[in-house]
Amino acid sequence: MRHKLVAGNWKMNGGLAANARLLDRLASEWRAPDGRAMAVCVPAPYLAQAQSALAGSAVAWGAQDVSEHAAGAYTGEVSATMVAEFGCRYAIVGHSERRRLHGETDAVVSAKARAALSAGLTPIACVGETLDEREAGETDAVVARQIGALIGALGSDTARMVVAYEPVWAIGTGRTATPAQAQAVHEALRERLVAAGAGSVGILYGGSVKAANAAAMFAMPDIDGALVGGASLDADEFLAIGRA
Ligand code: PEP
Repeated sequence: MRHKLVAGNWKMNGGLAANARLLDRLASEWRAPDGRAMAVCVPAPYLAQAQSALAGSAVAWGAQDVSEHAAGAYTGEVSATMVAEFGCRYAIVGHSERRRLHGETDAVVSAKARAALSAGLTPIACVGETLDEREAGETDAVVARQIGALIGALGSDTARMVVAYEPVWAIGTGRTATPAQAQAVHEALRERLVAAGAGSVGILYGGSVKAANAAAMFAMPDIDGALVGGASLDADEFLAIGRA
């Protein structure tokens, strides 16, 4: 069965008091219909707070990044084993903001996915093209390169990850891919995953998902959920996306 998931990416937002209000609403109001999963990926300092607020609820939690290294002289880095100690189920890897602002290459992203799996986490591996790449007709090639690197690095463990297709031009811009545009890329991703023996991998769409556009996305045959940035900071919006 495919992994159906709505995951929030809080990015570098939050504070103890606001987090408590949001987490308490999610914990008390989210019921997982048909095993559909909900998760929040919070800044690392708030993992303990997420763990204590969400333990025993139907909402999982995760990290927004992990180091590709296991331990050692990597100041400021956080290992997958460390976040796993806080009960995380998921770790986002390869978000476009990490690729763009921190120079993360396909090789680094794949190593992070491997590190997450080794610590017992499910990596949510992000792929997606920039606006320039889309306009140059390079979407398929870019996404094929990114997923190919992940499949090459994970091998038979490919089936243990979740993929998020996030067109970079749709992230935080209010500009969403149409359901048909997203479906076309998801279908191509699905073909590559099936060829790798990992057809059950959940493929999430990310990029300005809101309650108002979620249902149309989720109606597409190869869209298994969403990775949600801005709208995941609002309990009403995020719960409505989950219910969609
Ligand atoms: C994201 O950060 O992964 C994202 C999709 O952001 P937003 O929903 O705000 O576009």
